[in-house]
Amino acid sequence: MKTIAASAVRPRVAVHKFSSCDGCQLAFLNLGEDLLTLASRVDLVHFAEAGPLDPDTEVDVAFVEGSVSTPEDTERIRQIRAHSRLLIAIGACATSGGIQGLRNGVFDSQWVTQIYSHPEAIASLERSTPIASHVKVDFELWGCPVSGPQMLAVVNSLLLGVAPRDNADKVCTECKRRGYPCVMVTHGIACMGPVTRAGCGALCPSLGRDCYGCYGPAENANTDALAARFAGLGLDSVAVVQRFQSINSQAPVFLAAANKIRVSGND
Ligand code: SF4
Ligand code: SF4
Ligand code: SF4
Repeated sequence: MKTIAASAVRPRVAVHKFSSCDGCQLAFLNLGEDLLTLASRVDLVHFAEAGPLDPDTEVDVAFVEGSVSTPEDTERIRQIRAHSRLLIAIGACATSGGIQGLRNGVFDSQWVTQIYSHPEAIASLERSTPIASHVKVDFELWGCPVSGPQMLAVVNSLLLGVAPRDNADKVCTECKRRGYPCVMVTHGIACMGPVTRAGCGALCPSLGRDCYGCYGPAENANTDALAARFAGLGLDSVAVVQRFQSINSQAPVFLAAANKIRVSGND
């Protein structure tokens, strides 16, 4: 992929928000002192949550949080792509459609009239889709939310003129390297770590609880084997489908795993 070091002394950076909860932008803000250092090395020209506002300006790097959920979003993301040398999607909303993707395939316009007192003010698309479904994305950072250190590593790589490292290995690898007891083996708790992308440092198992897949599918994820393991732990097919249909429900690997269980007639 392209980098920015050769093209800009103090690269111009924007952070954009689409349909999301702002949690991934907060990961940026929570960098604290590192954010101040970063701000001295890049020119943060648009970051509504932090202050600067210039959404239509040309930038070297655009970070994009959130999914495409409205007709206006579809046009806005094209504009951002046209104004950005590099575009980086951050977080589960931007990479898979996010938790709001649970409506995909089951959307009923009657819900809008039942829920909102002024349904005419709602302009949602029937599907929530990732940024890469609409424009070219140069790099994706998965997670709900992404981790601040991961974001910093991406920016540092780009500043050094090297492509950011994509770690698509499984959470289990981080869990075992850190010596955490396996919650699935020791407590029989259904854990998504064997099929989930690394990057969080096995945060949930470090606290004695299961991974619920917030970093999305790892490469070579053996979802069949894990679904069988979950069944062996006593989960019925509905519960197994629910494990795959969570924050990253529309990630193709997780969606295919859930649909396979449904089609098998047990859900
Ligand atoms: S990925 Fe999660 S934390 Fe990030 S914006 Fe979406 S819902 Fe919020
Ligand atoms: S606790 Fe989860 S992530 Fe850790 S080794 Fe066991 S299955 Fe893998
Ligand atoms: S362990 Fe799983 S659910 Fe927990 S933060 Fe990491 S990827 Fe997300």
